[in-house]
Amino acid sequence: MRTQSETAVANADLVLFVIDARAGITPADKTFAEIARRTSGKILLVANKCEGKAGSGGFYEAYELGLGEPVAISAEHGEGLSDLESEMLDALGLHPVARPKSRRRTRREAAKAPASAATGADSDLTDIGDTEDTEDTSTDDEGNAFADPARPIRVAIVGRPNAGKSTLVNTVLGEERMITGPEPGLTRDSVSTDLAWRGRSIRLFDTAGLRRKARVQDLAEKLSASDAIRAIRFAEVVVLLIDANRPFEQQDLVIGNRVVEEGRALVIAVNKWDQVTEPQKVLKDLRETANEKFAGAAGVALVPVSALSGRGVDKVMQAAVEAYDIWNRRVPTSALNRWLDEALTRHSPPASSGRRIRIRYITQASSRPPTFIAFCSKPSDLPQAYIRYLVNSLREAFDLPGTPIRFALRKGANPYADRR
Ligand code: GDP
Repeated sequence: MRTQSETAVANADLVLFVIDARAGITPADKTFAEIARRTSGKILLVANKCEGKAGSGGFYEAYELGLGEPVAISAEHGEGLSDLESEMLDALGLHPVARPKSRRRTRREAAKAPASAATGADSDLTDIGDTEDTEDTSTDDEGNAFADPARPIRVAIVGRPNAGKSTLVNTVLGEERMITGPEPGLTRDSVSTDLAWRGRSIRLFDTAGLRRKARVQDLAEKLSASDAIRAIRFAEVVVLLIDANRPFEQQDLVIGNRVVEEGRALVIAVNKWDQVTEPQKVLKDLRETANEKFAGAAGVALVPVSALSGRGVDKVMQAAVEAYDIWNRRVPTSALNRWLDEALTRHSPPASSGRRIRIRYITQASSRPPTFIAFCSKPSDLPQAYIRYLVNSLREAFDLPGTPIRFALRKGANPYADRR
């Protein structure tokens, strides 16, 4: 085993070092970590069997290997695989490329084998050309249909220590119990809790609970920022809880920007609002600051709340559900291209070496977060400022506030023109 591992590592561009998070770190893991470290390629630490709560202890122990931050996955349940994929592409200096299929799958084929759609880009591209298509047959990394209302929306509450995360979670659960009564399947453990909120099913990740679970106290302190990062990875919607008395401190900004980078839906909840003396003015200032600091999620919902009294908690939940819906939104291709024509007319793209850069076609490649691909004559010459103009205009035209928008440029004209 050792020799085989050594050979494999020597020839690899990327080593996935997989540990069993349920078993924790074993002496054999440490030995193999030494071997893995000798690679001239990159190493990604992967903590497997992280579904449910039994893996969290091993997940934390994995940091001890000194191989960086573990990526939590469940190979058996298919969780965390899209994160792993993007980490792998990052490590290799590659970027996800939407590959056109040799031919489109027909709707009947798609219906026959919905789960074989595999990963994001491919399956999403099969929808190109369905210009007015609102029926979403795509699947996510877990093979679930996007629009499945029974599937819980994964919401994480993150923030600095003492922002009030535990208080907020307890208040949410307290109120929900009163509203919904004890439901079958309502489970409470220190990692996640399922609850129903106005007919929507929500799985709440409690990062404060995660921290309490860490075995060694010292380690726990060090890991509080990593808790947030782990929660962000697992979540679809992240509620960044900040303290109204000390809003937008460095750590708040780091966590919030991480949410945007990871492409999750963001909601900012400003806690301890009961201690704010000039609420109207403060709210206006905070909204301006939020838009400035999180430009990648312009229009992000900022909700005042008092976790202690429960005031505003309902609005936080509502904002989380709305953010989720926006994050899932699909814009029909025909409407996108009508918008593109207008946007190009309003401000034409600049010229490059005497020739005007042309953008001929745009399509939404995927949602979660909304991801667009535009086909352009000279992608590398289109200035960032112009791309920002397009993204802002897109956000406004299709009502996509607060969600990270991915916008990619590809060289060429519309490659699907002959099939439209
Ligand atoms: P966590 O570390 O983010 O989980 O924060 P906690 O929930 O433990 O709260 C930290 C402190 O802030 C506790 O003393 C709470 O009672 C207090 N706190 C939490 N929410 C509120 C609030 O809405 N208003 C006020 N005034 N205090 C709060």
